[in-house]
Parts: sequence; C-alpha cells; structure tokens
Amino acid sequence: MTNTRHFATLLLASTMAVGSLVAPAQANGELNLYSSRHYDTDERLYSDFEQETGIKINRIEGKADELIERLKSEGDLSAADVLLTVDAGRIWRAQEADLFQPIESELLEEKIPAELQQRDNLWMGFSTRARMIFYAKDRVSEPPQTYAALADPQYKGKVCARSSSNIYMLSLLASQIAHNGESAAKNWAKGLLDNFARDPQGGDTDQLRGLVSGECDIVVSNSYYFARAIRADVDGVSADIDQIGWVFPDQEGNGAHINVSAAGILKNAPNKDNALKFLEYLASDSAQNYFASGNDEFPVVEGVGRSASVSQLGSFMADELNLSVLGENQAKAQEIYNAIGYK
Ligand code: FE
Repeated sequence: MTNTRHFATLLLASTMAVGSLVAPAQANGELNLYSSRHYDTDERLYSDFEQETGIKINRIEGKADELIERLKSEGDLSAADVLLTVDAGRIWRAQEADLFQPIESELLEEKIPAELQQRDNLWMGFSTRARMIFYAKDRVSEPPQTYAALADPQYKGKVCARSSSNIYMLSLLASQIAHNGESAAKNWAKGLLDNFARDPQGGDTDQLRGLVSGECDIVVSNSYYFARAIRADVDGVSADIDQIGWVFPDQEGNGAHINVSAAGILKNAPNKDNALKFLEYLASDSAQNYFASGNDEFPVVEGVGRSASVSQLGSFMADELNLSVLGENQAKAQEIYNAIGYK
C-alpha cells in the first residue's frame, strides 16, 4: 500500500514536471503485457519503463504456447496489449492465429535490423541468440565448422541434440530449407540423425552437460545457455567449462543461424499507444542492455554493448535470412523430421 501511494506521488510529480500530459485522472494508463520471459533483469527493465513514462505494466507470465492459447480463447475481449516471447517460430504461431496488428514506428523501422522485422511488421526481434556448435576439446580435434558438417559421417556416434519437436530444432531446419531446398535439408537432417550419440533428450543445457559427462563429443545449443554457464554456476557445465570449445557455424557461408526474443502488439490492444511506447522503449540503449543481458543474448540495436559473458563468445557473422521464413517453413521442417524418424 505504501509502495503504491509512493508510486502515485512520484507519478504525479513527474506528470506536473513534464506539464504536457493530458487526462491526469487516468495518469498515463496501463500496459497489459503477456510474457514468456522470466529473468531477474527484466524487473529493472519494467520498472525503468514505468518510471520514465508513468505507464503501469500489468504482467501475465506463462509458457509461450499457453499464452498464445489463452490469447486465442480470449479473442476480441482480450485485454492484452503486447506479447513478448522467444523464437520466431513460436511467435509465428501467434501470427498465424491472427493475433497481431502491424507495428507502425519509424523509430523501430530504423533501429531494428530488417531481417528481424516480420515482413508485415507484425512482430520484431529485440535480442538475438545464435544456434551454435559446441565440442569437447579433448576428444574433438577438428570440430565441424558448418551445420552441413554435423551430418558428415566422420562424426558418426558423436553428436547430441534435443528433440525435433523443439522449436529451436524446427527453426534451424526451417533455415536449412530456405537456404538449400527441401530435399537437401532432408538429407542433412538424416545425416544429423545418423550421427547421434544417443536418443534426443533434454534441453540445450543437457547437451552441454553431455560434453562434460563424456556422452557427447559435439552438440548443438543456443548461445545463451553457454554464456549463462560462463556467468553463473550451471550444474554439470560451469565447473568444466574450459573443456568446451565453440564454433559459430557457416562463417564462410550464410552465417550462424540466429533467432530472436520478439514482441508484437495484439490486434485488440486496448492500450495501443502504450504498447507502441513500450516496444520503442525496448529498442533504447538501456533497455537493450537489460533485455539482452537478462538472457545472455545479443542486443540488436547498433552501438549497444554485450554483457561480459556474451562478449567472451567473440564476434561472428549472423545469417541475414528474414526470420519470417522460420515460421513459414515450420510445417515442412516438422514433416521432414517425422519422415526420417527423428523424434
Ligand atoms: Fe531457451
């Protein structure tokens, strides 16, 4: 209660100081945010926005697919303004359900790289992660330098990856389909499957653990799981992190496959203006810092530095494929994995 009152006082003071704001009874209103993020630095991200704008953020958190289902069932009556989630393939599911309206912002057009903007501006990416190759330094002297090489018979019985139903593996294959065509992508997936050291299991961190335990020699994981193990104590990885080498794949070709934490404005957003302000805020330097470092990701706005753990990965060339493609090819990717028996 004290906090609320204190906040209201601050709000009033800042409103008076700015002197240009109307409708004081409603203050600057609210923003209803549906988010699948849950990082400590996000608290600061949100409180800074509230203080800067006087807009109060109401958060509903949950798993991305559950939030999307909820939005679908709420329909026209939904109070949600913004959906914030990870992986272009996943936010594409929300796009397919016709949940978004176009983002109209010159500022975002300018600041967000074109390939991270959905083709009709239905969502945009605000931080990126790369799908990388990691390997056990003591057992692999010539690690694969490309995604294609993961399917090379020389690595038979050495590779680990998570289940094909996972969105990260679907998005990776979706990008292979876009670059090399369906039939080459299918051959690649088959080669990858043939090289597996064990049945697909666990999440990306479990693949990294497999390198330490010796079950796997080469694994596929998103960059931030490794960066997190540099920054914090991740059980089964951090203590032996020096044994793990990493490769940004396809540096001589298309560049490393990347994906995004992305956000879009919902079609029936009752607070559309605030939603737009929030997305523009996410592209500010300070928000980019919180947003990217919260999940050990790469900021997307030029000139914004990387967090200490992420910097250690070094620089790399990212694939510039428009991320809309990852959703568009998702069904084909799943079909291929099903057809070859990659569970
Ligand atoms: Fe993840």
